[in-house]
Amino acid sequence: MDFLDRSIRRTRFAYFSMEIALRAEMHTYSGGLGVLAGDSVRSAADLDLPMVFVTLVSRQGYVRQAIDDRHGQISKPDPWVPQDFATALPQMVAVSIEGRAVWVRPWLYGLECPLGHVVPVVLLDTDLEQNAVEDRRITDTLYGGDQAYRLKQEIVLGIGGQSVLRALGFRIKKYHLNEGHAALLTLPLLRETQRPDVDGASDPVRGYDIAAVRERCVFTTHTPVEAGFDKFDYDLVDRVLGDYIERDVLTHLAGVDQLNMTRLALNLSGYVNGVARRHAETTRKLFPGYQIASITNGVHVHRWTHRAVATLFEQQFSKWAHEPEVLAFADQIDDRALWAAHENAKRDLLARIAQATGKQLRPDLPLIGYARRMTAYKRPELIFSDLDRLREIAKNRPFQMVLAGLAHPSDGGGQEAIRSLGAHIEALDGVVQAVFVPGYNLDIAAALVAGCDVWLNTPLPPLEASGTSGMKAALNGVLNLSVLDGWWIEGCVDGVTGWSIPSNGADANDAGALYDKLRDVVLPLYDGDRGRWIWMMKQAISKIGPSFNSHRMMRRYVTEAYLR
Ligand SMILES: *Cc1c(COP(=O)(O)O)cnc(C)c1O
Repeated sequence: MDFLDRSIRRTRFAYFSMEIALRAEMHTYSGGLGVLAGDSVRSAADLDLPMVFVTLVSRQGYVRQAIDDRHGQISKPDPWVPQDFATALPQMVAVSIEGRAVWVRPWLYGLECPLGHVVPVVLLDTDLEQNAVEDRRITDTLYGGDQAYRLKQEIVLGIGGQSVLRALGFRIKKYHLNEGHAALLTLPLLRETQRPDVDGASDPVRGYDIAAVRERCVFTTHTPVEAGFDKFDYDLVDRVLGDYIERDVLTHLAGVDQLNMTRLALNLSGYVNGVARRHAETTRKLFPGYQIASITNGVHVHRWTHRAVATLFEQQFSKWAHEPEVLAFADQIDDRALWAAHENAKRDLLARIAQATGKQLRPDLPLIGYARRMTAYKRPELIFSDLDRLREIAKNRPFQMVLAGLAHPSDGGGQEAIRSLGAHIEALDGVVQAVFVPGYNLDIAAALVAGCDVWLNTPLPPLEASGTSGMKAALNGVLNLSVLDGWWIEGCVDGVTGWSIPSNGADANDAGALYDKLRDVVLPLYDGDRGRWIWMMKQAISKIGPSFNSHRMMRRYVTEAYLR
């Protein structure tokens, strides 16, 4: 814990996120948002940035997925034990929720990078004897419960997290709100600026220094649709948050009808960005009049590159993990060595699949992977739109498929998608070998993005804000086959770094385009021109690796947002 003192002395930037994926055994994440935050922590450690990260302890995790005999998801709690990985700190603080004092305990997790730098992650916990029974559960289930539960979690994260950092002695210059969940952290900052002697005018925020708060906050939005923003009725806010801040101030800053967390964050952040160029454009349309920059997401190269591929990188560029820019020269890697490393990663994946599903896939046939949060806009069923067409393609050129992903327990569309994927897999039996691997998590993701041959993505544009699993795949020379949306608009050179699927947003059209590409381009290349395929693998690594990594992303946040 010695690192904590040094960190408290030097830290200037605090990053708040509802979820952070630190390791598979710590169930403090649900998906892409948390994995991105986790990669940000790792890059912050590698780059020795003066940062602290704050999240919820989520003792019961998000969802432990099992699959029933009708292919449906069974959602169970996914508990973990904080003391196995983190250290309880004595500096507890209280926040007011429904008029009760709710105590918050910080747990400290130190993420250490190979060079020895350690970055602190503070995990907030309300499971304390001094709290009422219901309040002890506030930090149990990530994205669980009802609106009131969510609001309480966000009070603990934003207001509790802010006061924990203060109790620990941190002096923070800039707060980074990773998604709207953290937006309540602006309220204590706002209260600090209160000038009680200002009177008269009708401006509700006259007593506060809005500019001073904006100076201290950076907001990254991750959601391209209005329906995705956290919103709370003011009756609920009154009941839960009490008179922490005047109602007319809130309605002025966060929306008249409901408290919209995205709006609150937008109004109180001096720097706002989307997570890819297209997503920033979409956000500008949703919120005209705001300045929205774009910093495209990236992934942590060392975390997501398979050992066998990483060994090749190490031989050529000893500093690749610290300086991913050098991956630009990965096109010089020996073909046979790269293919051997890929076969190695594929063997690992097939072994894992056999263990999880009892099905043995073939190493010599192309393997198409699709794994991500199961929800309607990502269209997980698109490739199964026409099973006869798929069978016909596979009869000529056999291929295999692996799928994975969790659905939120209250996302009916996602639940339904998982059920029908199972049914499609069964219906294809004997023609296309396909499997669904239950319990998608960090470890399964790492095996998948390294061991497939093709990484499929078929979102409905423009709803994929960024997408990051395709970047992980590219690092391993796994070729993306994806609708042009999110980051892929920037990363795709068709036929060079992977392939685009022409989309007009209609499922039937897009499925047809996907089948055409598979039948006419992707599968024939795999079977007929392995040399060209390996050339594409090297193009993917050398064009995508140098820029779609979290070192570049964090360096941009520091220079363009934090030090602004
Ligand atoms: C990378 C990752 C995601 C995000 O994948 P997308 O392509 O952005 O949907 C989700 N879950 C896990 C476990 C991941 O590793």
